[in-house]
Amino acid sequence: SDHNLDYPISPAHMDWASHYPAFVDPDPSKINLGGTRKLTKDVEVVDIGCGFGGLLVGLAPLLPDTLMVGMEIRVSVLEYVRSRISALRLKQQVLKKIAAEKSTNEATPSDTPAAQEDEDDEVGSTTTIVPGNYENITGIRANTMKFLPNFFGHHQLSKIFVCFPDPHFKARKHKARIISESLNAEYAYVLKPGGLMYTITDVEEYHHWVLRHFKYETVEGENVAEDEPTGGIRDLWELLSDEELEADPCVRVMKFETEESKKVTRNNGNKYVAVFRRKADPEWP
Ligand code: SAM
Repeated sequence: SDHNLDYPISPAHMDWASHYPAFVDPDPSKINLGGTRKLTKDVEVVDIGCGFGGLLVGLAPLLPDTLMVGMEIRVSVLEYVRSRISALRLKQQVLKKIAAEKSTNEATPSDTPAAQEDEDDEVGSTTTIVPGNYENITGIRANTMKFLPNFFGHHQLSKIFVCFPDPHFKARKHKARIISESLNAEYAYVLKPGGLMYTITDVEEYHHWVLRHFKYETVEGENVAEDEPTGGIRDLWELLSDEELEADPCVRVMKFETEESKKVTRNNGNKYVAVFRRKADPEWP
């Protein structure tokens, strides 16, 4: 229950240093309101309901200088994500060390062909080191329906992902959906203008629910956004075109690298993608 959830009283109180040790500000006098070290940059990407962390792991080498966090409500699933990231960080450190040792050895090459072959068999020469070191991803346990603004400030984020959210099919359970009018207002609050809200689901009805809640549909299957009156939150989102989706490598990760997306691929299911750009705040008269 929420009683067991840890959350900061404000974004300025959040201890991010323990999550991203490679990004801690070298100046020890830079301390946040919670008394922990500040980072050199802000967290900018959030995966809501990250499950086993496939999206984060896929995005880490793609956006190596961007700090990303997965938020997950289930304790054991979050523990898995944390261990997975620790193991990946360690593996990258070891591979880099081996590669560095190998390049030092190459500077003084062995004279016999046999010795040369031995060197070529080393782990470093047969294992590909992917760019990035997974220092830029982490997972935290949170109920994002309740505490998102405790973690992130106004206009802090550049991307939010909601991948294969629990569908909560029954109408009386719809209030548990993590796309809703009030939550959209929170997503708009934490996203920068120009920031992107990524959604994907295998449930067609949920896809229409998403479009409706971002004001791109009022009736299932009928796009009436352009005819709608403007004003308020309605004006804050712009649906990306198919061409824009094609050009965005994050969409590919979302479609093929989350655990749920792999399950849907195995079952030959459909995947419905909708990405919304957060527009500038409307000017109030
Ligand atoms: N996004 C992952 C993927 O694509 O593989 C996992 C999808 S899974 C169907 C939905 C996840 O959202 C579950 O792991 C669930 O525990 C998590 N979740 C549901 N409600 C949540 C909430 N309010 N806050 C954080 N996580 C939540």
